[in-house]
Amino acid sequence: MPAVSLVWFKRDLRVCDAAPLAGAAQIGPVLPLYCIEPDYWQQPYTSPRQWHWIRDAVAELDTELTALGQPLWVEQGEVVAVFESLWQRYRVTHLWSHAETGPDWTYARDRRVADWCDARGVQWTECRQDGVIRGLRQRTHWAAHWERVMRAPQVTVPRLDGVGQPPCAARQILAQVKPTGSADASPLQPSGRQAGLALLRSFLQTRAATYRRGMSSPLTAQTVCSRLSPHLAYGTLSLKEVFQAADARRTDLEATRDRSGLRSGLSSFTSRLHWHCHFMQKLETEPRIEFEPMHRGFLGFQDMTPETEGRLARFSEGQLGWPFVDACLRALAQTGWLNFRMRAMLAAIAAYHLAIDWRATAQVMARWFTDFEAGIHFSQMQMQSGLTGINVNRIYNPIKQSMDQDPDGVFIREFVPELAPVPTDWIHAPWRMPMSLQRSLGVRIGHTYPTPVGDPVQMAREAKQRLSEWIATHAMTEERDRILKTHASKMRQPRPRYAKTAPRSQLSLEWE
Ligand SMILES: Cc1cc2nc3c(=O)[nH]c(=O)nc-3n(C[C@H](O)[C@H](O)[C@H](O)COP(=O)(O)OP(=O)(O)OC[C@H]3O[C@@H](n4cnc5c(N)ncnc54)[C@H](O)[C@@H]3O)c2cc1C
Repeated sequence: MPAVSLVWFKRDLRVCDAAPLAGAAQIGPVLPLYCIEPDYWQQPYTSPRQWHWIRDAVAELDTELTALGQPLWVEQGEVVAVFESLWQRYRVTHLWSHAETGPDWTYARDRRVADWCDARGVQWTECRQDGVIRGLRQRTHWAAHWERVMRAPQVTVPRLDGVGQPPCAARQILAQVKPTGSADASPLQPSGRQAGLALLRSFLQTRAATYRRGMSSPLTAQTVCSRLSPHLAYGTLSLKEVFQAADARRTDLEATRDRSGLRSGLSSFTSRLHWHCHFMQKLETEPRIEFEPMHRGFLGFQDMTPETEGRLARFSEGQLGWPFVDACLRALAQTGWLNFRMRAMLAAIAAYHLAIDWRATAQVMARWFTDFEAGIHFSQMQMQSGLTGINVNRIYNPIKQSMDQDPDGVFIREFVPELAPVPTDWIHAPWRMPMSLQRSLGVRIGHTYPTPVGDPVQMAREAKQRLSEWIATHAMTEERDRILKTHASKMRQPRPRYAKTAPRSQLSLEWE
């Protein structure tokens, strides 16, 4: 029996710029594998929506691999048991994969895989597909490293010498898997590499021109943002290929002195590709931030009470009684996507106004996201919930956001149809409508649409009070300095000024 290399696909569902596949192909026959791990799909941040997206991308991966000469093997089960059964049938000498910066579950699973490789004498090579560095303790030179990785040549995969047909066709197995979980969940963002390439093309050609102007409002963001996040999260496109395509387009435009806005749009876009890895690096360096506040001074700051449990239920159902916030919550639940600013607003409102433990909010929102990426998600949740100690705390005013981002109430009426008859003057705060108007419109606050969960101004005031009292009575400075040293990008960094016992005026809070 010839020696076989297993190529284990995880969040890298492509054959283009696929270093593990290319590396394995150089040394002999390849067995490409995708493993459906039932236990992963029981984790609180997973959802049927994410599975459906992955399923379609894996099916397309099978087509790509078949064209290279070796169809994909799809197996279902605990991955070490799957490897062991393949090892019993083939002379597996090598395992190739991309390194993963995932939640604790994937980290623990990878440790079991490493143990199995040691026990079986299998050599595991993990290639990096992003700018994240394993074992990094501080960020000096990180940005330069990221730039080097992004500019490195893409890997070409040759025709494969394989092991032949799998016992059961990939598509047949994929069709049989029925994920558990709520039936929320058709993936509304088209899946697979071809869909990703089409999005990339349209963004680079035209859509990037209005990216900066349109990214903040949920009305425009859905068409002007790249919408590449699931493709980057599950690797149907490589980060490097997206960066290089955007960079090449920007260079071409420089030569033509383009004034359409495309160039500046593309600059903002490539900064965000940088952020993608910047935030993932935080989880890679400090995996505990999936469970604990990044700033340990905030341990115990947010605890769930019966009151916050009730608010979490209203948050999860998009029934807070604040129309714009409810529209964002329902849009996310229905479509699986929301723009950055509105994600940030939802996380902040849950943490500040509603005083919900960020970990509970993180799970609800992760399940809604098609593009769930643990490194970005947990780091962003911490930042927007004010728990990093190094970022300015943004406390959003939901009414002001509503008037700024959806002035005519178009988005509200789309996702909160029970408010459709409400005139624009009242749509942002319909609880203020006189009873006679409510009656004539057939919209009764407290009956056809919920009474607000509270007065947003008063709740924000209480949140600021809670925070400033906490900061004044807990040691914050030393931990803040540790976080700055470990996680802060050396390029630019707003520094909150905590006095040893901070008077309220020294809190860096913004009310937007
Ligand atoms: C609370 C919260 C949770 C989030 N969770 C996730 C998540 O699970 N998965 C995820 O991919 N993004 C997450 N984001 C970041 C961001 O909102 C999404 O990446 C973006 O909205 C996806 O849409 P897009 O692909 O059109 O982005 P674009 O604006 O077109 O940006 C291009 C790419 O850059 C990266 N990116 C953009 N903004 C950010 C950012 N602020 N931080 C890090 N990377 C960024 C993404 O990979 C994105 O696909 C989260 C943001 C917040 C505030």
